[in-house]
Amino acid sequence: MQCDKCRREAVLFQEYSGQHLCKQHFEADFERKAKHEIRSHHWLSPGDHIAVVLPGDANSSALLCFLKKLTSSRRDIQISAISVDEGRRDYRDPGIAQGITGLPGVECIRVSFAEKTGMTADEIADWKGIVLAGTYCRVIRNYLLNKTAIERGVTKLSSGDDLDDMAVSVMKNILQGNPEILIRTDLTGPGKIPVIHPFIAIPKKEVALYSALCAGSNDIFRRPFTSGPFETDVREMLDNFTLRHPATKYALMNLKKNLESTCFTKVDSVHTCERCGEPAEGICVSCRIIDEVTSHGS
Ligand SMILES: [Zn+2]
Ligand SMILES: [Zn+2]
Repeated sequence: MQCDKCRREAVLFQEYSGQHLCKQHFEADFERKAKHEIRSHHWLSPGDHIAVVLPGDANSSALLCFLKKLTSSRRDIQISAISVDEGRRDYRDPGIAQGITGLPGVECIRVSFAEKTGMTADEIADWKGIVLAGTYCRVIRNYLLNKTAIERGVTKLSSGDDLDDMAVSVMKNILQGNPEILIRTDLTGPGKIPVIHPFIAIPKKEVALYSALCAGSNDIFRRPFTSGPFETDVREMLDNFTLRHPATKYALMNLKKNLESTCFTKVDSVHTCERCGEPAEGICVSCRIIDEVTSHGS
């Protein structure tokens, strides 16, 4: 198949646009979309130190590559990687994360569950059971990412979340009846490092292709958490549905954007956790989990 914009060989067919694209035109289209998200959300400011969160499958390597390219002429912007070692037997140590950062000038910041909380993810699973451990580990991971970012002068964390991840999250919250997560924009405030998602409007398939073409890697990492069965079902359902209705995931992303802009004032007025500022009455669930784990681990 030939590219619809030139005569070179196509590397991708975009179902939602009906276009075949060659490597050059695909990369240009991909980077244009990511830059558009960054601009429209004001995700890049002079003097920023952005840390890409590892590991996160092929998305991390694509994201590092893209951000380095984007900021190559910006001396005032620093790009790092940040990796949380949960201490799991069945999961390769993110020490291999050092490999991914084989880009010049990219430092890999490390933080470990065991050092900071006194417990590994495996010990939490033995203590709480595998189902609860998923929630506990996610909370601790986010807490450690934020805390380490503050300590290391990181101004923004960057996640490789893509259109598929966003669509699954929106659909999951609809099916579980959680409106507050749908209408909540990423909260920033004192003590909360903003998280940016430059690939949020790009399908997972294209992020994987960009990673393979630009970063020379594909699916180096598995995600640190196995999704629960509910999320896996939602992902499968959406993937099947999208085969017949290619714009579905974009529609879900737009739904969230529209809900955020129309409902934001309501969310603004809810009670917030007295410690971390998340919406909650009194002390939030996350802060309680951190307390419980650190006191058990010490
Ligand atoms: Zn072309
Ligand atoms: Zn809290």
